[in-house]
Amino acid sequence: MNTQRDGRLAGKVALITGGSSGIGRACALRYAEEGADIVIADRDAARGAEAVAEIRSSSNCRALFVEVDVAEEASIEAMVAAAVKAFGHIDTVVAAAGISSAAYVSGVPAADNTPAEARHLINMPVANWQRVLDVNLTGVMLTDRVVARHMIEQGIAGTIVNVASSAARLALPGAADYCVSKAGVAMLTQVLAMELLAHQIRVNAIGPGFIETPMTQAMREKPDSHAAMIERTPMGRLGTPREMANTALYLACEESSYTTGHTLYPNGGMFVG
Ligand code: NAP
Repeated sequence: MNTQRDGRLAGKVALITGGSSGIGRACALRYAEEGADIVIADRDAARGAEAVAEIRSSSNCRALFVEVDVAEEASIEAMVAAAVKAFGHIDTVVAAAGISSAAYVSGVPAADNTPAEARHLINMPVANWQRVLDVNLTGVMLTDRVVARHMIEQGIAGTIVNVASSAARLALPGAADYCVSKAGVAMLTQVLAMELLAHQIRVNAIGPGFIETPMTQAMREKPDSHAAMIERTPMGRLGTPREMANTALYLACEESSYTTGHTLYPNGGMFVG
């Protein structure tokens, strides 16, 4: 078991939305290894309890699950209040909760089998577009600002790490809702970073490529989709959730003290090769 007394997040409290699955869960485990107490915020209480148990069994850190729907402002306010009530303060947040489409349910292997053309903008139901923006963009904005208000009130020079996507910079037919939501997260990160400079709160984002999480499970199971993901990735493999957590960790801790408003793209060289 780790002692984490000299960890990079020792003494800090981290709040992680989407923290019971995939990238968020890897961040929770990685941050706990570095000494942070962890608040996992997510929708599924049973999976949240499992993630909390995993943290408690692998570290000496405190861990708590809080149920949240990031599409609801009141739910986010309740999440932050619960975290502060339990651990006193929040020093760092990972806004990882997200969906790949309105039909996506994480951990459910069945893909959205709607043909790509039916998902083109000219055919996309407005409700689907709205749902993706509500969760992926407005959910991040609300999470960030409720946490930032708390940090400002308590005089905490905290860090915020948003989870965007490499799709913020790729025009993927059939995924306009997702691409636009993630491009929005990248810009939100920039504007918020400027607005929070005076409070010594840094705001950054990660823009993962294709990562081995429930979100890509259905694509990984289909040989042609799997091959297409590899084809798009110069490193020739998918990324791991832990690699994403290591990138988020850098942005959350003192090592990135001169970095704000930046989106780092851990994507196997996708924008280079
Ligand atoms: P994941 O395993 O499906 O995790 C997403 C988590 O967010 C799930 O626990 C999900 O809960 C939760 N969530 C969804 N909607 C929510 C809501 N309204 N309120 C609260 N929680 C909600 O997928 P992941 O790959 O780790 O995704 C994490 C983030 O990385 C997302 O923002 C995603 O867009 C981004 N990302 C992923 C990849 C990739 O290749 N995997 C690439 C680029 C970016 P439920 O299970 O209840 O839905």
